[in-house]
Amino acid sequence: MRSATRTARQGASSDATIALLNWYDRHRRVLAWRAEPGAPADPYVVWLSEIMLQQTTVAAVTPYFNSFLRRWPNVTALAAAPLEAVLQQWAGLGYYSRARNLHACAKAISTEHGGVFPQTEAELRALPGIGPYTAAAIAAIAFNRRSVAVDGNITRVIARLYALEERLPALRARVKEKAAQLQSAERPGDFLQALMDLGATICTPRGPKCGVCPFGDDCLGRAAPENWPRKAAKRVRPQRRGAAFFLRRNGAVLLRTRPLNGLLGGMAELPGTSWTEDYDVERALHEAPFIADYEKLSVCVAHVFTHFTLALDIFVAEVTEDAPAGSRWVKEADLETEALPSVMRKVVAAVRSCGW
Ligand code: SF4
Repeated sequence: MRSATRTARQGASSDATIALLNWYDRHRRVLAWRAEPGAPADPYVVWLSEIMLQQTTVAAVTPYFNSFLRRWPNVTALAAAPLEAVLQQWAGLGYYSRARNLHACAKAISTEHGGVFPQTEAELRALPGIGPYTAAAIAAIAFNRRSVAVDGNITRVIARLYALEERLPALRARVKEKAAQLQSAERPGDFLQALMDLGATICTPRGPKCGVCPFGDDCLGRAAPENWPRKAAKRVRPQRRGAAFFLRRNGAVLLRTRPLNGLLGGMAELPGTSWTEDYDVERALHEAPFIADYEKLSVCVAHVFTHFTLALDIFVAEVTEDAPAGSRWVKEADLETEALPSVMRKVVAAVRSCGW
C-alpha cells in the first residue's frame, strides 16, 4: 500500500484515465437521460436532466424527467408551453427557481439560438439557470468538449484519489485542476460521467468499495478514504416560523400565487404569515385574509430549505367570503393539479390527517 502523503507519480494520470474509462464501459449506470454507448447525446436531454439533478437525487428526478420528456419532447415544445404548466409539472421536485429558469432558458434558445443549443461553456453560461457546473457538464456530455464539471461525487473521488487537504470551498478549484489533468482528451464526456458513476456506486461517502475500484493502488486516500474530503465547518441553519391558513368555502380552498421573484416564486400556496425568526403565534391571525372562527391544529409542519428550516402552525376555518385580490378558490379535489410546493403539500396532508 502506498503512503497517503506521497505525490501522484508522473504518468499515473493516463493510466488512471484508461482504467476509469474501461471500468465505465463495463459498469456504466443505465439512466433515462443517458445516450447508448457510442451514440451522440441529445443536448436538450442532457440539459433537462442536469437542471433537474441539481440538489436532487437520481431516484427523485427520473419520473419527473420522463414525464417532462413525454410532454415536451424538445426545447421548442418546452419554450411554447405556458409557465404555469411547467411549474405544475415541476411541483414536488423542489427548488422552484429551476423551473422558472428552465422555461426562460428554453425560450432564449428558441428565440436567440434558433432552437439549437450553443456548445461552448461561455455561451451556455449566458443562458438563464445555467451556472458554471451545468455549463461544463453540458459542454462535456452533449458536445464532448474538454470541460470539467465538479459536483459532490466528483469532489469526493478526486479528493480521495489525490488525498487533497483543502476544505470547501477552496477544495473545488483544486479538484477542478486535478480532474482537468486526468481528463481524457478523446472522451471527455464519458470521463466526466465515469467519475460521476464511480462516486455514486463505488467511491461512496461511507463504505467505499476500494477493492473493485479502477484506480486501485494509484489512489492516495485508499488507506483511509472516509478521511476525505476534509470536512468543512458545520453550517447551522436558522429556524424560521410562521402560520398557514387553510380556509374552506363550499368544498373549495383558498390559494394564492407567490411573487415570481424570490423563494418558491410563481408557485401556489395557502395564504399565510411571513416566515421569520421572531414569529409570534399570538399575532398570527393579524395576517389572516379574513376574520373568522379559526381553530389552531395541534400538528405543526416542519420543512428544511437550503438556507433555513421552517416550522409552520396551521389555522383552519370555514368562511363564506369572496376571495381577496390575488387569491382564488380551488376545489379541494383539484388541489393535486395545482403547482403546490412540497411544504404546502405537507400542510394539506397535515390538515387531512387531523380529519379536517
Ligand atoms: Fe475511492 Fe477507494 Fe477508489 Fe480511492 S480506491 S477512488 S477511495 S473507491
